Amino acid sequence: MSGTTGLPPYDDNNIFAKILRGEIPSKRVHEDEHAIAFHDINPQAPVHVLVIPRGRYVSLADFSANASEAEIAGFWRAVGRVARELGLEERGYRALTNMGQEGGQEVPHFHVHIFGGRRLGRMVPGVQA
Ligand code: 5GP
Repeated sequence: MSGTTGLPPYDDNNIFAKILRGEIPSKRVHEDEHAIAFHDINPQAPVHVLVIPRGRYVSLADFSANASEAEIAGFWRAVGRVARELGLEERGYRALTNMGQEGGQEVPHFHVHIFGGRRLGRMVPGVQA
C-alpha cells in the first residue's frame, strides 16, 4: 500500500498494528468497518483520542495516495463521528495528524489525533500568530 516514492514500507509490528489486532490493550471508543478509535496513552488534553484506519497505511501521504474512496470516506466520517460522540462538537476540538520526521510522527500507522476539553491555544507552538 505504501508504494509512493519516498515513503517507508508498512511495518506490521508497529504499535497501532498490534492494537488493531488486539495484541496490545487499548481503551476503544469506536470501531467500524474502516476505522477504530482509542484513548491516547499519554493524553495532551482532557480528551485525547486517536482515530486510525484499519488498512495498512504508514501516514497521511500513504493514505491519501493509496487508500480507496470507501476507505477515505469511511475514515473521515469516523473522525467526525468520534468527536461528536465524545461530546466535543459544541465547544470545539482540534483534529491533527503528524506526517514524517519534521511533522513529528512517532508511530508509522496513519492516525488522526482528536484533542478537546480545554482551550487549545496556538496551533503550532513557538510560531507567532
Ligand atoms: P504521533 O507522534 O505519531 O503523531 O503520535 C503517536 C501517539 O501515540 C502519541 O500521542 C502517543 O502518546 C501514542 N501512543 C504511543 N504508544 C501508544 C500505545 O501503546 N497506546 C496508546 N493508546 N497510545 C500510544
